[in-house]
Amino acid sequence: MYDYLIVGAGLFGSVFAYEANKRGKKCLVIDKRDHIGGNVYTEKLENINVHKYGAHIFHTNDKQIWEYVNQFADFNRYTNSPIAIYKKEIYNLPFNMNTFHKLWGVVSPDQAKQKIKEQKEAAGITEPRNLEEQAISLVGTDIYEKLIKGYTEKQWGRSANELPPFIIKRLPVRFTYDNNYFNDRYQGIPIGGYNVIIEKMLAGVDVRLNVDYFEHREEFEALAEKVVFTGMIDQFYDYKFGVLEYRSLHFETRIVDDTDNYQGNAVVNYTDKEIPYTRIIEHKHFEFGTQDKTVISKEYPMEWKSGQEPYYPINDDKNNKMYKKYNELAVQETNVIFGGRLASYKYYDMHQVIGEALVTVHNEFATNR
Ligand code: FAD
Repeated sequence: MYDYLIVGAGLFGSVFAYEANKRGKKCLVIDKRDHIGGNVYTEKLENINVHKYGAHIFHTNDKQIWEYVNQFADFNRYTNSPIAIYKKEIYNLPFNMNTFHKLWGVVSPDQAKQKIKEQKEAAGITEPRNLEEQAISLVGTDIYEKLIKGYTEKQWGRSANELPPFIIKRLPVRFTYDNNYFNDRYQGIPIGGYNVIIEKMLAGVDVRLNVDYFEHREEFEALAEKVVFTGMIDQFYDYKFGVLEYRSLHFETRIVDDTDNYQGNAVVNYTDKEIPYTRIIEHKHFEFGTQDKTVISKEYPMEWKSGQEPYYPINDDKNNKMYKKYNELAVQETNVIFGGRLASYKYYDMHQVIGEALVTVHNEFATNR
């Protein structure tokens, strides 16, 4: 009845469905959630698009991907410029000349470089053994203490000197007065929210929501020639090599009705350890909203247990080795295509998921014309 059963109505599943549909293939998309869009879904509250699964800013250096998403929505000129609050002090992110001026009163890039150099030398770390040493060896002690330590410890639920150094490979340090978080050429938020994009991708495609593939696996598989699976790869194989681990998040979202502007910025990071959340997102600022009220979400990192939202894969040696075993099975499948962040056990930005989906489409239809 269907050429493809697509498990997951997130970005990967939706791009695949759109492209397959365009080629005359019949697709059924299923999702266990009660909405399409996966993690990019936005929910309207007080006429504000609330990023339900965390702040999502689209950015890419790839012109083709930018043009691809622009066929589904126009993008606004939002530029991500987060603010960090450390014990009531405000700093600009990413680390740049505005941050250095606030920290040390320096004015020129050479002064800032000198300051960082002195701190790195004073710490005397040659072979970092943990995240703390790694961060200090990259940016010195002041930035580490005020802007990295508390945030990272909250994020991972462990002390920075117990965390492996590989978590921070590089730290973006910019010696210009530029608060733009990303270096990419293209950036913005789709006007009307991400739902506009997903709705257009899935127009004309059969979609069933609130259905878990694993609860009706045989029934669904009997409906289609092939399966495109974007759920958790370990679950697909019934966890036979073990459970892949994640970090999770909890969002505390509330309507604020006594002000129309709570924090003056979409993203504010709280970098001291005493405050239990890592960020507050004020959603209206993603779209320059002028509504009378505002909506904020406090973001709390937490341990992941089965049944909770798996947000960030923990790509340490143990999990990567386990994933490799699952992937060895996956590549042998002839009727199942795996894709997206959960099936690849990888943190992907949106442009990367779209890129991966388009490569998959290309491979699929180049061989199955
Ligand atoms: P998902 O969106 O997770 O879609 C998978 C879908 O499959 C889900 O809807 C799920 O319900 C469904 N599913 C799973 N199992 C089953 C099952 N058994 N039966 C039925 N349905 C099932 N990227 C950026 O580019 N910029 C950002 O600013 C950004 N911010 C982010 C912030 C956070 C907190 C997080 C976690 C991610 C962020 N991302 C960002 C990444 C972005 O969310 C992903 O790249 C993208 O959503 C991945 O799409 P996907 O289709 O692979 O997965």
